[in-house]
Amino acid sequence: MNPDVLVVGGGNAALCAALMAAEAGASVLLLEAAPREWRGGNSSHTRNLRCMHDAPQDVLVEAYPEEEFWQDLLKVTGGQTDEKMARLAIRASATCRDWMRRHGVRFQPPLSGALHVARTNAFFMGGGKALVNAYYRSAQRLGVQCRYDAQVDRIEIAEGRFVAAWIGQERITARSCVLAAGGFESDREWLRQAWGQNERGEWPADNFLIRGTQFNKGVLLKHLLELGADRIGDPTQAHMVAIDARAPLFDGGICTRIDCVSLGVVVNREGRRFYDEGEDFWPKRYAIWGRLVAQQPGQIGYSIIDAKAIGRFMPPVFPGVRANSLPELAQKLELDVDAFMQTLDDYNRSCRIGSFDHTQLDDCRTEGLTPAKTHWARPLDTAPFYGYALRPGVTFTYLGLKTDETAAVRFQGQPSENLFVAGEMMAGNVLGKGYTAGVGMSIGTAFGRIAGTQAARAALKRAAHADA
Ligand SMILES: Cc1cc2nc3c(=O)[nH]c(=O)nc-3n(C[C@H](O)[C@H](O)[C@H](O)COP(=O)(O)OP(=O)(O)OC[C@H]3O[C@@H](n4cnc5c(N)ncnc54)[C@H](O)[C@@H]3O)c2cc1C
Repeated sequence: MNPDVLVVGGGNAALCAALMAAEAGASVLLLEAAPREWRGGNSSHTRNLRCMHDAPQDVLVEAYPEEEFWQDLLKVTGGQTDEKMARLAIRASATCRDWMRRHGVRFQPPLSGALHVARTNAFFMGGGKALVNAYYRSAQRLGVQCRYDAQVDRIEIAEGRFVAAWIGQERITARSCVLAAGGFESDREWLRQAWGQNERGEWPADNFLIRGTQFNKGVLLKHLLELGADRIGDPTQAHMVAIDARAPLFDGGICTRIDCVSLGVVVNREGRRFYDEGEDFWPKRYAIWGRLVAQQPGQIGYSIIDAKAIGRFMPPVFPGVRANSLPELAQKLELDVDAFMQTLDDYNRSCRIGSFDHTQLDDCRTEGLTPAKTHWARPLDTAPFYGYALRPGVTFTYLGLKTDETAAVRFQGQPSENLFVAGEMMAGNVLGKGYTAGVGMSIGTAFGRIAGTQAARAALKRAAHADA
């Protein structure tokens, strides 16, 4: 029996859509490309979602009003965002937690080490894996059918309407469909073509690591764009973090992130600094460092700290390279010792020490140094010293399908009646570039729920017509 609503994908956005559609009375089939043990996509790696609130609420302290959330988003995207869509996601973030709880998600106060986010981000107890598992359990209770190892290769469209999805030779029809199959971050060839060759003759994407699932290959994104669906975003824009160069190619997750950048300096392969490490709070800046490293020779950087930084950041899974002096550290990192020491000596000399406070945009900064370090600048002078080699870690890509407040896929500006999109596949409508921590899950939850509601409405309307 074919379902009312077909949901393609198995992460947060897909599950939110499936749950909403089932709650609205539709029969739902969810198709997840991954095997059961790897279900949940990038969502299973998450820790939190960003929530607006006007007063303290359960796990959130103080207030984080709509306007502040919007200004944060405006700043990180440099204006490359759609205000209507962004505000919709922001407002939805105020009220979604009760619904999430009803489906088994539990929240906890921020863990120590998750700096600055007690006010803005609600953390999932057990992380994204527990969230995803709770949603699958709830979906099962509501009668949602889930199939694993079910990668949809293409869909059939007639005059902008969804007709069927194909898995190999198998054709699955439904009255409506939600696409929530992630970005294209795991298609390394697509990344390679998108990033192209640089002025040094390198193919930068060859040195990228993928932080999340290997199943987000963008098969349907590419297919939909070929079918003429309206697009949004630039294929080189993505959430990209500087991660430990020793991380695995896929699924290294959160524990490979290197979070000590703002406490020290970062140099490239030539031993030179290339960006202000103390520009802003880390949750507002961590997602630009992948791109910054991608622009360096060999797509590699080195985060350098001294003993004063220890205990002030979430320790990554692999220990840093440790040395008792800076020249020894340079040697161990295989950097040119003279160039490295020149950079470090210049930096140490230029630090104007104020009152160091990592919870504030403090007054410790460099003077007369290019690039400047504008906050938390303290000389690196206390052994032992540590260095971490950094590679660009792609979290998710922003190229997606253009949509509107109804989450409908559009063909030449016309919204489809029964094909909807949610999550990474449309996050580019809100995120033209940049990122602020936790907004991926805010977007996926808001638009997953909208897409599920709309898909159920479209399907049930069609069923009523068929019965009439
Ligand atoms: C390490 C890491 C940490 C993160 N931490 C956070 C965080 O704390 N807060 C936050 O807001 N965001 C975080 N993000 C980003 C967040 O994961 C995404 O924004 C969000 O999960 C996207 O949800 P989604 O459902 O669109 O995609 P996903 O969760 O990736 O789900 C996509 C699903 O589609 C399936 N799929 C792909 N292609 C097909 C196909 N052709 N047919 C069928 N199924 C298919 C995949 O198997 C997968 O299940 C993090 C990401 C990573 C990688």
